[in-house]
Amino acid sequence: MRYLVKATNNPPLAMPPLALTLDLDDTLWPVWPAIERAETQLHAWLQRHAPATARRFDIAGLRALRDEVARTHPQWSHDLSAIRLESLRRALRQAGDDEGLAQPAFDAFLSWRHRVEIYADVVPALQRLAARFPLVALTNGNADLQTIGLSHWFRSVVSARSFGVGKPHAAIFMEACRRAGAPAHRVLHVGDDLALDVAAALAAGLQAAWVARPDIHAEAEGAPEGTHHVVRDLGELADRLGA
Ligand SMILES: [Mg+2]
Repeated sequence: MRYLVKATNNPPLAMPPLALTLDLDDTLWPVWPAIERAETQLHAWLQRHAPATARRFDIAGLRALRDEVARTHPQWSHDLSAIRLESLRRALRQAGDDEGLAQPAFDAFLSWRHRVEIYADVVPALQRLAARFPLVALTNGNADLQTIGLSHWFRSVVSARSFGVGKPHAAIFMEACRRAGAPAHRVLHVGDDLALDVAAALAAGLQAAWVARPDIHAEAEGAPEGTHHVVRDLGELADRLGA
């Protein structure tokens, strides 16, 4: 007797996750409004403290300088803070202002960069998820969870800046799994970026959830094959995980 095995598009059932790693920017809050506000405030700061620099570089000019520093210093690709600090040093120098103002200018930028508007679903969802799973933050950005007021939900934070390489490198995912205390195939990584979060997590052997927030992704389409969850917000993810 022969049995027919039906072909299926579903990936093999994954083992339930034991821990979650979470991206921050554009997963817990929209990052660009905060960056734009911070750039505006930085320029206002320069107008007060380094007017020649503010005159020579408008916001777009400062951004171009930052991009140029990023291009010419690939060794800082995991450290956005180093790139922005050096670009400010350069702007001040080129305008004939005091380079020593780069650090306080950067501090002003960073304090505004931390004034993010957390998505409404995030705190209730973190509360549910943290009650069930160890949570580890995994970010390529320079947001500080303590400053933002969410650090108590997380067991640990792994940042590209402190670790030395960023996503999509498998090594940083492995470090996050180590801190989460679970093997990679039992860790679900949660993030908005299809390449840096979803494809990279799958390639590193983790499970992956794509958070396709409607304000950033009009369509929740294009997730790589094998993606374990596609959700519109973290509340939906908590529902799917039974948290
Ligand atoms: Mg992100």
